[in-house]
Amino acid sequence: MIQPRLSRRRFLATTAVAALGVATRAAPAPTAGPVFAQRGYYLLPNRAPTLGLSANRDLLDCIAEDGGNTVILWLAGGFKSRKFPITWAYNETHENVRRDFVAPLIRHAHDRGIQVLLGFTPFGYDGVNQYPLEHPELKAVGPDGRPVAGFGIHCWGWNLCPAKATARSFMREYVREMAEDFCPEADGLFIESSDYAICHCPDCGPRFFDHEFACVRAISDTFWQRRPGATIVVYPHYFSGAKLKFSFSEAVAAKQPFDPRWTLFFTPHSAAPEPQLIAQAKGSWWWNEAPSRFDLAKIQAGAQKARSVHCTGFLPSLECYSYVPTHDEFGEPWLTGRRQVPFGMGWVPEGTSPYRELPLRAARLAYREFSRDPDLTEGALDEALGRELFGRAWTVAQVRDLRELCRVLGTDRNWTVPAPLTTPGLVAARRAAGRLDAAKRTFLRGQLDRVRSIAEAHRNSASPGGRDMARIAQWLADQWRGANLQTLADA
Ligand SMILES: [Zn+2]
Repeated sequence: MIQPRLSRRRFLATTAVAALGVATRAAPAPTAGPVFAQRGYYLLPNRAPTLGLSANRDLLDCIAEDGGNTVILWLAGGFKSRKFPITWAYNETHENVRRDFVAPLIRHAHDRGIQVLLGFTPFGYDGVNQYPLEHPELKAVGPDGRPVAGFGIHCWGWNLCPAKATARSFMREYVREMAEDFCPEADGLFIESSDYAICHCPDCGPRFFDHEFACVRAISDTFWQRRPGATIVVYPHYFSGAKLKFSFSEAVAAKQPFDPRWTLFFTPHSAAPEPQLIAQAKGSWWWNEAPSRFDLAKIQAGAQKARSVHCTGFLPSLECYSYVPTHDEFGEPWLTGRRQVPFGMGWVPEGTSPYRELPLRAARLAYREFSRDPDLTEGALDEALGRELFGRAWTVAQVRDLRELCRVLGTDRNWTVPAPLTTPGLVAARRAAGRLDAAKRTFLRGQLDRVRSIAEAHRNSASPGGRDMARIAQWLADQWRGANLQTLADA
């Protein structure tokens, strides 16, 4: 999960540090089998309250079709905890809070050969950060010595101080309930250390990650007692002693003993690959945001990076949101109070699976191909896209236009911010706020011209994929009529 206010400069700096951390060993020789033992996606179903069992089953089917065998399902805040109802009160309309469908969903995953890891953040983020509503004394302390301010994505609350015994017992019991009572067949845990803040109280400070580690250790042991050998994914912050930079604070990683049963998770923004740890771990997984942004080149770059640092898995994000933001989360106040549209694809009826829409099929296919062969050429990917999505008689123009649709949908995207062409109201709000300069208007008019051409060119295509592409392009073009079109005008 990426916190929203990471500056571009800091993001690039963190990425540069990650690049320096790359192992210098030679890349392993190519093998006949899959490059990565663990393949699949990182998902946050807790932030998609409108997607029920049917849409989530379809998602698992898609993962199986993409050659995946693993899925991270972030569930904290998205299940109806009996012990801690405050953790889901903000999310009471969520389909899983209402219908409790995750247990059958996990059985479906197993039918498709997919292992399911339950995601949560110790002492922060969704669900957990609601506990201070009842226990304000557990709030973490900021660098100024005062209780932290509220923060979140979808679920706004406060991170907890891990040095407080009540916070630790809450964490252990909340996770135990999720794993044992609600999802007893889940295959493991994904313990995502917070990427935005630590606690600066006198008991934490430089020992913050030691306190968090104690809880992670206890939660892992409890899970392994019940399911020996289960996959438990943790962040490297407890073991490396590295200096960590988050947007709200800095921290030093702990130097706790590493249990080789753990799998490690590395990201471009918050956890640089660490070769010595990777060499010890049961598995190591790399993540990036590329599939959720329709960024085919970055999917390839992610697969190459994962291989170069000897990760055993590449599990990028395919997350989408459908909640109603209660706060301005990414500097776009117009979005507050409006339901998020999964991937900005407003032509998909609410509550139905978005994962088979053509641009996502392109991103998923790119993931499937690059996770098999990170060095696949652009031409070979185009051929795979063409053949599968448009049929044997596919044309270069079809694939070129599909790539353009992916670029349009990925333009200026952020976790909760849709691409401009999907959402004229957002663009109008930016213009009203003086945040849509002439260059951007020209750029967006150019995109609009291209989607109109795509709609026109493929409307009568012999290929169903071609006509589908025309339908999506036409939907985009249709958003820009009348007053909306004036938003892009220079006058
Ligand atoms: Zn503390």
